[in-house]
Amino acid sequence: MKSGWVLAALMLAGCAASEGAREARTGDPGTSASVRERPPHAVKPLRAGISQQTFTAGRSVENRPIDAHVLGVGADTVMIIATIHGDEAAGTPLTHRLHRHLLANPGLVDGRRVVLIPVANPDGLHRRRRTNVHGIDLNRNFPASNFRTTRRHGKKPLSEPEAQALQRMILRYAPSRIVSIHQPVSCIDWDGPGEKLARAMAETCSLKAKRIGSRPGSLGSWVGLELKKPIITLELPRSADRLTEDQLWRRYGRMMVQAVVFPDLAP
Ligand SMILES: [Zn+2]
Repeated sequence: MKSGWVLAALMLAGCAASEGAREARTGDPGTSASVRERPPHAVKPLRAGISQQTFTAGRSVENRPIDAHVLGVGADTVMIIATIHGDEAAGTPLTHRLHRHLLANPGLVDGRRVVLIPVANPDGLHRRRRTNVHGIDLNRNFPASNFRTTRRHGKKPLSEPEAQALQRMILRYAPSRIVSIHQPVSCIDWDGPGEKLARAMAETCSLKAKRIGSRPGSLGSWVGLELKKPIITLELPRSADRLTEDQLWRRYGRMMVQAVVFPDLAP
């Protein structure tokens, strides 16, 4: 286990302990229980040996579910996260479409596990705004060393339940690569050792691989710089809002499949 994962796992242990205390106080099963106490029958075998698990990975400030779908059982894990910024929502239909494509093409999941989180900021999506309902930019609320305390970033890393849910999922599944879908910059940005993946994705579509720079307390900073795992900040254009799911898939479907099968070439 790499040192980044060890450190992160220790942090999770502390976090889980405090959540347990909250549950005991409030009687609220909260978000962690829904992840840890999943009954075994939630795993549904599909044809060609694919398994699929769907569960609530956490809850927003306003108690909306943050759903997760886990396909396959292989050791190589890719995680796709959409709509951490509620007003950058084109990644959500794209992720749903990828989900259906993987179910219809089980060979793509052979030997790997795909974790899909179609809406990371459900309250923000509900209001079509960037932040969660506390006014915190969730993509500045992660425990990276460049975290900065501000009213917009939070008093401390992981102050927000939505960021906690993503952190738990990442520590639980230890993905070997992550794609987080945003708008509107129109490029494929990366943090950590993500350049090869970014360039492989760029070969399948009109978006260019380009470094934007590590933002304080961002998911990219935490995963790329602290955990030292490849993470892509996929910036779709603003105009992607106007595309149907099928149109999104025609433009960006091969790119999403490339992220899944990397380092193999997308079919
Ligand atoms: Zn964004």
